[in-house]
Amino acid sequence: MSRPAPHVLLLGGTTEARELAAAVHAADGSAGAWRVTSSLAGRVARPRLPAGEVRVGGFGGASGLALWLREHAVDAVIDATHPFAETISGNAARAAAASHVPLLVLRRPGWVPVPGDRWHPVDSLAEAAAQLPALGRRVFLTTGRTGLATFADLTDTWFLVRSVDPPEPPHPPRMTVLLERGPFTVDGERELLRRHRVDVLVTKDSGARATAAKLTAAREEGVPVVVVRRPPVPAGVPQVADVAGALAWLAGRATAADTGGPTADTGGPTADG
Ligand code: NAP
Repeated sequence: MSRPAPHVLLLGGTTEARELAAAVHAADGSAGAWRVTSSLAGRVARPRLPAGEVRVGGFGGASGLALWLREHAVDAVIDATHPFAETISGNAARAAAASHVPLLVLRRPGWVPVPGDRWHPVDSLAEAAAQLPALGRRVFLTTGRTGLATFADLTDTWFLVRSVDPPEPPHPPRMTVLLERGPFTVDGERELLRRHRVDVLVTKDSGARATAAKLTAAREEGVPVVVVRRPPVPAGVPQVADVAGALAWLAGRATAADTGGPTADTGGPTADG
């Protein structure tokens, strides 16, 4: 009797996670193939669903995730969450280490400035808020609806806030909300900057293709950009930059799973219990 396909849990919520789920799911049934379950946090009202099995909602911290890995006989975990989803990445590292399940981080590269860019790198949203009064009074804020409280004290500043779902208070008192989801075009972003007379843009360094057009538009319009740097990936966890790298890692793991179970190579922190 043939063994069931090994099971990979894919922590998602990104374009790359959806692309990886589609590729793994398409190969299901072939030799060395994996069964894939994607996990979404459930933050977005109408998420774009990945191919294959999908579960939605938190696990209950690192210990809850470790339990889920055991109960669902998970052979490998790929953390393909957003570069700023720091808590789930830390939880994945602890849960995988505690469960002796191999873990890979799939993190797309960050954006790189080019000549003409006027970037102001900062380490946090709070630092971005502190810099804004010196840079402009009409701000295009593209850091998402969470974290708006950080800008709530800037009463002299007008914000154009773009998010997928409506923001909730606390938020800046002077604000216009654009409910939109990428991909965005350079022409569209340039038109937005001009129409709203934006004099400074704030973004996280997500590195996403779908939202990079605003950086080109800002450069062309001479608009300064406050770029929030990424938090680090948990120490010791292997990392790849694209879907092809993740597929190659899985191919190696399929062999390990076939020959008596995978080996842990998380090297990450220990479980929080
Ligand atoms: P976070 O702060 O790192 O995580 C907070 C909690 O949300 C986690 O402790 C976990 O709850 C739950 N969670 C997060 N991602 C999950 C997933 N993929 N599956 C199941 N539970 C998850 O996360 P976040 O920054 O709020 O991001 C939430 C989701 O949105 C992520 O999947 C991320 O990929 C996506 N996203 C985030 C951003 C961003 O700017 N942060 C942008 C675009 C998309 P428990 O502790 O209960 O397990």
